[in-house]
Amino acid sequence: MSTIRFRALESLINRETFKAEIQPEKISSYFGKHVFGDKLMQEYLSKEAYAKVKDAIDNGTQIERHVADQVAAGMKAWAMNHGCTHYTHWFQPLNGATAEKHDAFFEPTPDGVAIENFSGSNLIQQEPDASSFPSGGIRNTFEARGYTAWDPSSPAFIISGTLCIPTIFVSYTGEALDFKTPLLKALHALDKAAVDVCQYFDKNVTKVTATLGWEQEYFLVDEALYHARPDLSLTGRTLFGHSPAKGQQLEDHYFGSIPARVTAYMRDFEEECLLLGIPIRTRHNEVAPNQFECAPIFEEANLAVDHNQLLMDVMTKVARKHRFRVLLHEKPFAGINGSGKHNNWSLATDTGKNLLSPGKTPKNNLQFLTFFINIVKAVHTHADLLRATIASAGNDHRLGANEAPPAIISAFIGSQLTSVLDELEKKVKSTGKMTPDEKTELKLGIGKIPQILLDNTDRNRTSPFAFTGNKFEFRAVGSSANCASAMIALNTIMAQQLKEFKAEVDALIAKKKLDKDEAIFQVLRQYITDSKAIRFEGNGYSDEWVKEAKKRGLNNFAKTPEALDALVSKQTLALFESNNVLSHRECEARHEIQLEMYTKKIQIESRVIGDLAANHIIPTALKYQSMLVNNVQGLKNILDAKAFQKAAQAQLEIITEISEHVSVIKKAIDDMIEARKVANKIGDARKQAQEYCYKVQPYFETIRYHADKLELLVDDEMWCLPKYREMLFIN
Ligand code: ADP
Ligand code: MG
Repeated sequence: MSTIRFRALESLINRETFKAEIQPEKISSYFGKHVFGDKLMQEYLSKEAYAKVKDAIDNGTQIERHVADQVAAGMKAWAMNHGCTHYTHWFQPLNGATAEKHDAFFEPTPDGVAIENFSGSNLIQQEPDASSFPSGGIRNTFEARGYTAWDPSSPAFIISGTLCIPTIFVSYTGEALDFKTPLLKALHALDKAAVDVCQYFDKNVTKVTATLGWEQEYFLVDEALYHARPDLSLTGRTLFGHSPAKGQQLEDHYFGSIPARVTAYMRDFEEECLLLGIPIRTRHNEVAPNQFECAPIFEEANLAVDHNQLLMDVMTKVARKHRFRVLLHEKPFAGINGSGKHNNWSLATDTGKNLLSPGKTPKNNLQFLTFFINIVKAVHTHADLLRATIASAGNDHRLGANEAPPAIISAFIGSQLTSVLDELEKKVKSTGKMTPDEKTELKLGIGKIPQILLDNTDRNRTSPFAFTGNKFEFRAVGSSANCASAMIALNTIMAQQLKEFKAEVDALIAKKKLDKDEAIFQVLRQYITDSKAIRFEGNGYSDEWVKEAKKRGLNNFAKTPEALDALVSKQTLALFESNNVLSHRECEARHEIQLEMYTKKIQIESRVIGDLAANHIIPTALKYQSMLVNNVQGLKNILDAKAFQKAAQAQLEIITEISEHVSVIKKAIDDMIEARKVANKIGDARKQAQEYCYKVQPYFETIRYHADKLELLVDDEMWCLPKYREMLFIN
C-alpha cells in the first residue's frame, strides 16, 4: 500500500476519543460567559455610558468620544479580568472568512515601564492594512487604506485571550468592503418600511427586526485521511474517488445514533459556542454518512450572522483538537448529499409579535396576510437577485442536484394558505367599494386561518424558499456561505416591497376614498395575481418542474457566472441604491469579486486535478500495469503458447484497459492546461469566469471518470489516495 495512505489508515486503528473538559455546570450558568453582554455592561459601565450604548443598539444613534472612552475602559477591565492581553477588530471581508488583527493592550511609557491601554478611539476605529482583502477595484493600491468601525449592536467577546470587537469594514472613500455594512443598512431599511406598514394595524409598533435561525450542515473526516487527500486539503472537496459499495441508500445515518468520537467533538464545540453566547440547541446526523447538522435558537439577524461566522471558526478550531477536519464545502463527496445552510427568516415587532405568525383576530390575520403576501410578491419580483446571492462554485454542485433545492427560485406556501389566497383573489373586487356584507364575509374568511399553522403545515423539502408555519426557510443557501449575502437581499427586497405597498394603499385611500382595510385588500388581491408564477407546491426536484418553470418565465441559472448577473441588473442597482444599502459602484465591485472568486476556485481545482492525475494516479496505474506486464512475461517463459494464451488473457485485458484510461486522462490534462492558458489571458472578469466554467471545468468530469475506473482496476494495496469507503465510514 502506498505509504501515505497506509500510515493514515494505521493511525486510525487506535485513534482515541479526545476527552474534552466539559463544564460540569448547567448550561444556563455559563451561557454567554465570554460575551460583554447586557448584564456585564451594566456592571462595568456608568449609568450614562450604558444608556448611550443601549440607545446606539436600539436606535443606531452615534456614540460620542467621551462615552466611547468609558465603554473602552469597561471592556478592558472585564477582558483583563478574563486574562486578555490583546484586542482585535473582528470583521467579515468579502472573501467569505472572518478577519482579525490582534493588538496588545500593553503600551510602553516614556519612563521605560508600560501600561495596559485601550481607549475609545481604539474601540471605535482602526486602520488595518487591508490591501490584500478583495475590493473589486474600489481600493486602488495607492489608496489601500481600509477602516474598521465598531458595531455596538453585536457584543464584544473573548476568544483565546483576545477581546474581539465586531466591526464593519469600509474603504477610505467610505465604500463597504464587507458583509456587515450593507446588512446593517438593509435591516435599517426593513425596520423603517415594516414599522410604517405595521401602523395600519397597531400604533404601538415602533421597531421591526428581522430574525434569523440558521441550520448548519457539515461533514467530518479524520485528519490523517484528510492530509492524505491533497484535493480535500487544498479545495475542500474530493476531486476523485469512486462511490463506495454502500453510500446513503439505506438512509441508516439520518438521525441515527451519533458515534462517540463525534459526540465528544460536538459537545466540545457546542460548549465553546455557548460560552460565546451562541444559543446552539440542536444536533443530529444528516442523510449522508459522516454528515451532521447543528442549529441554534433564532436571533436578530445581524447577531445571528455574526454567530454563524463565529460558529464556523469555532467548529474548525475545535475539530483539530479531536483530530478531525470539518468540511463546510457544499459538495465534498460526489454521489452523496451535499451540505446547505437553511436560513429560517421572519420579522418580529417590539410588541413581541412574529409578523409571520397568524393571530387570533381578523385584524391580526390581515396583518399576517399583508406581510406574507408582500414577501411572496417581493420574491417574485427579485427572484434572480435571490438566486445570485447563493451562487458560488461550491453551491453549483448542489443546486439542481438530486438532494438540493433547484436553481429555480420558487416559493412554497402550503395548501391551507394557497386556498386562503385563492379565496381572497376571488372575493375581493379589483376596483370599487365593497358592500358591508362582502366585507364581513371576507373578514370572517381570513379569521379562519388557524392560529397555529405550525403543527399542520405541510413541509416541502424540495422548495428553495418554503413557508414553515411561522417563518420562511431559504433552503438554497450554501453551507460555507456567509448568511449575510442572502439576508442583505431578502431584507432589502422586503423593505422595497413594503414601501411600494404602503404607497399603493395610501393612494387608494386618498384617491378612491376607500377605507383602509378595503384598500389593503385590493392591493393584496392584485399582488396575489401578479406573483402567482413564483408559487410552486409540487416536487422541485422533478424534470416536470424545470419545464413548467420555463413556461412560467422563471429563470433557471444553473451556473454561477450567469447567476451573478442579477447583482448588477438595472433593477438590482436601483433597489439597493434607493434603499441606501449599496451604491452602484459597490454592487459592481461585489459582482466582480464574486466572479473572481469563482474563477480562482475553478482554477485551483483544475491545477489540483492535473497534479493528482499526473503525479499520483497515472504513476500508480502504470506501476500496477508493469507488475502485470512482468507477470505476463514470466508466464510466457514457463508456459507453452496455448497455455500462455489462456493464463494471460485476463491480465492482458487489464493491461490494455489501463493504457486506455491513462491515455484519455493524459490527453484531457493536456487539453485542460491549454484551455486554462486561454482563459488566463482574458481580461474581462465575467468572460473569464465563463471560460473557466464552460471550457476548463468540463475536463474535470472526463479526468475523474477515468481515474475512478483506474481506482477499481488497480491493486488496493497500491492505490495512493484514501478511498470514499475509508473517509466516509471510519470514525
Ligand atoms: P427543521 O427545518 O429542521 O424542521 P425547525 O422548523 O424546528 O427545524 O426550525 C429550524 C430553525 O428555525 C431553528 O434554527 C430555529 O431557530 C428557526 N426559527 C424558528 N422560529 C423562527 C423565527 N421566528 N425566525 C427565524 N428563525 C426561526
Ligand atoms: Mg430546516
